[in-house]
Amino acid sequence: MRKALMAGNWKMHNTTAEARQLAADVAKACRDFDDREVLLAPPYTVMAAVADVVKNTTIQVASQNVCWEDKGAFTGEISPVMVKDVGGSAAIIGHSERRQIFKETDELINQRVRGALKFGLTVVFCIGETLDEREGGKTFTILEEQIRKGLAGVAPEQTKDIVIAYEPVWAIGTGKTASKEQAQEAHAFIRGLIADMFEKNVADQMRILYGGSVKSTNVDELMAQPDIDGALVGGAALDAESFGRIINFQ
Ligand code: PGA
Repeated sequence: MRKALMAGNWKMHNTTAEARQLAADVAKACRDFDDREVLLAPPYTVMAAVADVVKNTTIQVASQNVCWEDKGAFTGEISPVMVKDVGGSAAIIGHSERRQIFKETDELINQRVRGALKFGLTVVFCIGETLDEREGGKTFTILEEQIRKGLAGVAPEQTKDIVIAYEPVWAIGTGKTASKEQAQEAHAFIRGLIADMFEKNVADQMRILYGGSVKSTNVDELMAQPDIDGALVGGAALDAESFGRIINFQ
């Protein structure tokens, strides 16, 4: 039985006061469920503030990226140790905005994944095809390449700390959600590939989140799919009422 994970990716939004308010409102909006987990990924600058606001709740805090070393000459980066130091327990890695805007490669992402796991963070590993790739019939080839390269060198016992987020690039921030059939098909493919790379029981236990224009109006049908174990939510996570409704999916 996989526990649902509802994650909010705040991207580059919220000053300290805004972040404290939003985190408090999200905490209020969450019902007391034991069948699902909630994760907030605020900008680095407000991680400590958000962790402080949610400290007496079950809400977990993640960074939106992370370096692979604990410290050193890596200007502009933050380390897994620093994420933990401010109350974080997870890191998003390989988000399409990192891949596209900041040109992060599968190799760099793999280095981040292995580093984050080594220092004890949960990794929310993002993958997804662009519109051109989907229209060119390359969706599964791209997903397979991103997964094989991104998770290269990961030991089977580390897989319990990995969550995969399937986020079709064409659905991110566009209002265009993948249909539940398209999402389920991709998730089933990903689970099959994980079984092939590791073992069937690793694949059975791994949570695969869907991301890309998740809203309160489409979350129920997405979450009803057998291989969709949660959501990575951008825009709708910036509004406590919307994100609350998403967390409280049926
Ligand atoms: P969106 O973003 O919900 O605004 O489409 C999702 C994401 O980028 O994680």
